[in-house]
Amino acid sequence: MKAELKQLIALQNTDTRIRRLKADIEAIPQRRAEIEREFDQRAFEIRALETERDAAQHERARLETEIFEQRKRAERADRNLMSSKNAQEYEAAIREADAARKTISQLETTLLEKMEAIDQAENQLKEREPEVERMRTEMEQRLKELDEQTRSESEEITARGIEREQIFASLPVQMAALYKRISARIRDGIAVAEARNSSCSACFMSLRPQVMAEIRRGEEVITCDNCNRILYYVPAEQKATEASATVTPNVAA
Ligand SMILES: [Zn+2]
Repeated sequence: MKAELKQLIALQNTDTRIRRLKADIEAIPQRRAEIEREFDQRAFEIRALETERDAAQHERARLETEIFEQRKRAERADRNLMSSKNAQEYEAAIREADAARKTISQLETTLLEKMEAIDQAENQLKEREPEVERMRTEMEQRLKELDEQTRSESEEITARGIEREQIFASLPVQMAALYKRISARIRDGIAVAEARNSSCSACFMSLRPQVMAEIRRGEEVITCDNCNRILYYVPAEQKATEASATVTPNVAA
C-alpha cells in the first residue's frame, strides 16, 4: 500500500480516537450528576428519618414551653384560690386550676410520645450509619474514578493531538487538503473508510469490481462515488494478524 494511504489511515484512527475521548469527557458531568442522584435516592429514607427526628425535637421544645406556661397558670389559680373572698371566686379558681392541670397532663402525654419518636428515629439512624457511610464512600470512589478518567483522557487528547499534527504535516499537501475537506464536510468526521465485501464500509454503497481492484492495489487515492470518503483495503490475512491492533474506523460509533 502506498505510504500516504497508510498515513491517511493513521490520521483517521488518531482523529477518531480523539473524537471518542472528547465525547467521553463531555459526558462526564452528566455521569457525575447520575452518581450523585443515585446517592440522593438511596439516602432518601435516611433523610426522611432525620426530618422526622428534627420535627419531633422541634415539637418537644414547643410542648415544654407550653407546659411551663400551663404550670404558671395553675400556680396563679392556686394563689387565687387561697385569696378568694367568696364562693364565686373560689369556684372560678378551682375550675381554672383543674383546667390547667388537665391541659398539663395532656401535654405531658404528647411530650412522652414525642420523646419516644425521637429515641426511635435516633436508634434507626444509628443502625443505618454504617450503610450511609458505605454509600458515601462508594460514591466518592466513583467520583474519584471519573476525575481520574478525565485527567488521563485529557492527557491522551494532548498527546494524540501532537501525534495527529505530525502525521498531518507529513502528508503531501494535496492529500492533507483532501482529508481536511472530506472530514470537515462529513458529520462523523470520518474521511477514510475501509472497502469491505466490495462495498464502502461507511455508506455501504457497492463498489464496481474495477474500482475494488484499484483500491486493492492501493497505488492511487480512490474515493467513494457516493460518500466521497477515501477508501482503503485490508487483506484478510493482515486483518487476522492485526485483529487487535487495527483501529478500523467504526462508522456505527
Ligand atoms: Zn461511501
